[in-house]
Amino acid sequence: MKNCTFCKIIRGELPSAKIWENDDFLAILDVNPNTKGMTLFLTKQHFDSYINSLPDGTYNKYFQALKKVTSMLEKGLAVKRVAVAIEGMAINHAHIKLYPLHGLKDKFEEVLAKDRVYFEKYEGFLSTQLGPTKNIGELRKLAEEIKSKTRD
Ligand SMILES: [Zn+2]
Repeated sequence: MKNCTFCKIIRGELPSAKIWENDDFLAILDVNPNTKGMTLFLTKQHFDSYINSLPDGTYNKYFQALKKVTSMLEKGLAVKRVAVAIEGMAINHAHIKLYPLHGLKDKFEEVLAKDRVYFEKYEGFLSTQLGPTKNIGELRKLAEEIKSKTRD
């Protein structure tokens, strides 16, 4: 797509720091990282950024390739894990954000934010912080509502 920032990067019209690519996908370091090695993993073909709109074949190949890129970041940055986020709300071109989780111990240890949050609407970012604890009755009611609206 002509004016898409990611398409321009893929065509080489904008500079990027590539870490991996194949015929279908490209991994580049984010130009606005909030942690060292934050990476954008793009489809080379322009697709809508909503992950569910990808054709099944592309979707499957994308996630197989994702494993390669996250493994590269683990080894290349000596991190134990890489978090994966798919929101696609800044640029409407399919992309996955990869966040190396720096500072984790060798052995798994629970790491939780001190504060809790809850969002009534999307604020332009995702958070993995926990929210307030809901009562199980409320959650079961919501589960039933979701299931009742999605039965065939
Ligand atoms: Zn594009």
